[in-house]
Amino acid sequence: MNDKFLRCCDKHKIQLDKTKPIKQYARYFRGFTKFHSLSYQRGGNAISYWVSCKNNECVQKHGLCFSEVIYYFQFNNEYYAFIKIYKCINKT
Ligand SMILES: [Zn+2]
Repeated sequence: MNDKFLRCCDKHKIQLDKTKPIKQYARYFRGFTKFHSLSYQRGGNAISYWVSCKNNECVQKHGLCFSEVIYYFQFNNEYYAFIKIYKCINKT
């Protein structure tokens, strides 16, 4: 739990209740699909922490941009991913 995380929750209007636990996960399973994050250290398929994420601030207007999952967390029975979105470089 750090400042960046708290700012992010604030930005996305996730109401954190300090009295309730936040569970952090390095991996997340959805059906048969396994997602890893950067905090999952045991190697494996390194590419699986790359996700595409909706990004309205993209200078290239991609809409969907690549990002890395730092970790997943669960709060109030909802799953979230704490991610880092890379700024797309304008190549023109
Ligand atoms: Zn982009």
